[in-house]
Amino acid sequence: MIKLFVFCFNFLVFQKDTSAVTYKEYLGVINGYKQLLVDIREYKLTPVQARERFQEMMLVMKKAFPATRYDSTKVHLCFPLMGFDFRAVGGYGSGYIPRGYDLFDQAKKGSHPAHDIFMKDKNQDSRDDRTGDYVSVLSTTNGVVIATENGWQTGSEYRGGNYIWIYDTTNGGLWYYAHQREIYVKAGQVVRAGQKIALVGRTGFNAAMPRSDTHLHMTYLRIDEEGNPFPVNTYGWLKQATTLLDPRIAIDLEPITMLRKAEIQQKSKPMPDIKAPKTAFRRIEPIADEEPVKSRRRRRG
Ligand SMILES: [Zn+2]
Repeated sequence: MIKLFVFCFNFLVFQKDTSAVTYKEYLGVINGYKQLLVDIREYKLTPVQARERFQEMMLVMKKAFPATRYDSTKVHLCFPLMGFDFRAVGGYGSGYIPRGYDLFDQAKKGSHPAHDIFMKDKNQDSRDDRTGDYVSVLSTTNGVVIATENGWQTGSEYRGGNYIWIYDTTNGGLWYYAHQREIYVKAGQVVRAGQKIALVGRTGFNAAMPRSDTHLHMTYLRIDEEGNPFPVNTYGWLKQATTLLDPRIAIDLEPITMLRKAEIQQKSKPMPDIKAPKTAFRRIEPIADEEPVKSRRRRRG
């Protein structure tokens, strides 16, 4: 009897793992992920129910886009603020506080499983004081947008403001970008590493306050085989990230090399040989009058 049960169990698990994702299931994530976030925010689901729905969605995405690799020591990113590098990350990376984080329970507060990445904006108009221009937010990796908010209103109590969630098709995790001024992508859209997805802004209850310095709030969640999320400290990755100076060459960025490797492993056709101009990989030179991040007191939201 036990043997029969084990057999049936294995059979069911096997069936589950090999079944293809249907377009309907995929659309269920694209059209349903934001609703899940809203339901969590409005306490319409218990944490257990929310986790179950999240897990279902993540397993659909994992099947639809099997990760080409995930090695936490080798993840290579495009730095998410165009023209900036890791020195813009608040507090030398000390702003990352994962303890107590629960995506499914809004009642749990106090954690900050994220890095805040700051620009120079003394008059808080969301323009870089050095250039007078807005700062582009670039996708750190290749992925699929699964939720966006672009309608945050001043005075709203929602903390994320205008945000983007992207399923990372290279590493099989989730990126969350918050507080943007303007969003340029929509759920269902495929993005490449280095693609311009938004402008840094001050949307969100705390981020809009005069006490907050203008920044991007960014989280990465690793998704395990059961579809559970685990925040990851991305500071090491951000230190290694490529600074992009021109979004028009985004598609030539480094992850192409990784795709090429994955393709070779799968013995499929090699990618065409694309070479990015060297300027795309050049690090920005330190700007003489720039204060180190540590010397200024940073407020986050
Ligand atoms: Zn933050």
